[in-house]
Formats: sequence, structure tokens, C-alpha cells
Amino acid sequence: MKYKLERPVNAAIGAGRYQCSVTWRNGSFTADEPVSQGGQDSGPDPYTLLLSSLASCTLITLRMYIDRKGWEIPEIRVDTNLYSEIKEGSTITVIDRDLYFSQPVPDDQRLRLQEIARACPISKILENQVTVRTFMQREQEQAKRILYENEEIAVVWRPELCQHATRCWRELPQVFRPKEKKWVDVNGAPAGRISEQVLRCPSGALAVEKK
Ligand code: SF4
Repeated sequence: MKYKLERPVNAAIGAGRYQCSVTWRNGSFTADEPVSQGGQDSGPDPYTLLLSSLASCTLITLRMYIDRKGWEIPEIRVDTNLYSEIKEGSTITVIDRDLYFSQPVPDDQRLRLQEIARACPISKILENQVTVRTFMQREQEQAKRILYENEEIAVVWRPELCQHATRCWRELPQVFRPKEKKWVDVNGAPAGRISEQVLRCPSGALAVEKK
């Protein structure tokens, strides 16, 4: 299992309504709710962000395809919107995506581009099964600690906090070996790589103590 993003998208909110600071790998921006929902409209709302992801992925995928084909299509625009309805007791969300070209495009190319848009990575994510896993990061409370160390690094594991999310051993199996009795082998990878992995433990069960 490997995450798509090297770093997670991080967001934080204080007591204010409802400005969130969203940090991505190369900067940050504000997300907010519209005034009608009690926010200040100082940034895109969560639905807009979701649709922006689809819109930008659609355009990037189409541009890559058009360039590869050498077609003369200088500009593409996309509108996206969504609605939800209840059908047979289940909530169904429908996203509509309208594509526009700045100049006439032959029918065969239009059809092909419609297929390509449907196959863009974010479309595939939205149309396939998605699971959202939520982990509660705990404060570092007094819990049983097991120490694994060598001269360079000391890794502490608090079994009571471990949520068995499998992240550590799926991403760094040469160090985290759940079938072994001494399950953390701090000699299995460079100390820097182990530290990086420990920071990704969603429960806070793993921690590094600097040597
Ligand atoms: S990543 Fe953390 S929570 Fe997940 S299995 Fe490893 S120690 Fe446990």
C-alpha cells in the first residue's frame, strides 16, 4: 500500500466560524463555509473543493490526451455541480460535468474526449468504492511502553494505543514485522526512514526518541 501523496493534506480549524487552514505540499489556502451557512465565504467550501478536484483532474487528463494526439483544441472548460436525492431509502449523489470547447471539435474527437473524461483518475475514485478510515490521534498518555533501539534510534511502541491500522508494516515491512515476537527491527532500515514511518502512525502508538 502506498499513498498517492508524499505528505498528507493537513487542515486545522480554531474556534472561529468556519475558516480552515488547508496545507498542501507547496503552500496553504483557506476553506470556509458560505455566509448562508454561518461562515464568512473567505475560501472554497468543502463541496466546491470536491468538485474542483474533479474539474481539474478532468481538464488535466484531457489536455494530456489532446497533446498526445496532436489535436488542435486550444481551450477546454468544465462546469461541475452535484445534487443528492433519496432513492429507495438510500442517499444517491449525482455529479454533473459539462465540457465546453472554445471552437468546433469533430464528433469522433468529442466522443473520445467524453470517454477520456470519464476515465480521469478522480472520476474513477468517485465512481468506485471509497472507504474513509478515521483514526483518533491520542495525546501521549501514560501507557505501557516497549522500547526498540540501536545506537542511532529508539522507537517506542505503546500497544494500548495501537489501532492495528497496518500502516507501519505495509509501508516498511523490513522494520515492522507483526508476525515476529520482537516485532520492530530498528536495524531493518536507515534511522531517518524509520523516523519518517513512525510519524505516519495514525494512532500515536509509535514514537521516536532521538538518540
Ligand atoms: S501504524 Fe501505528 S496504529 Fe498502525 S499498526 Fe503500526 S503501530 Fe499500530
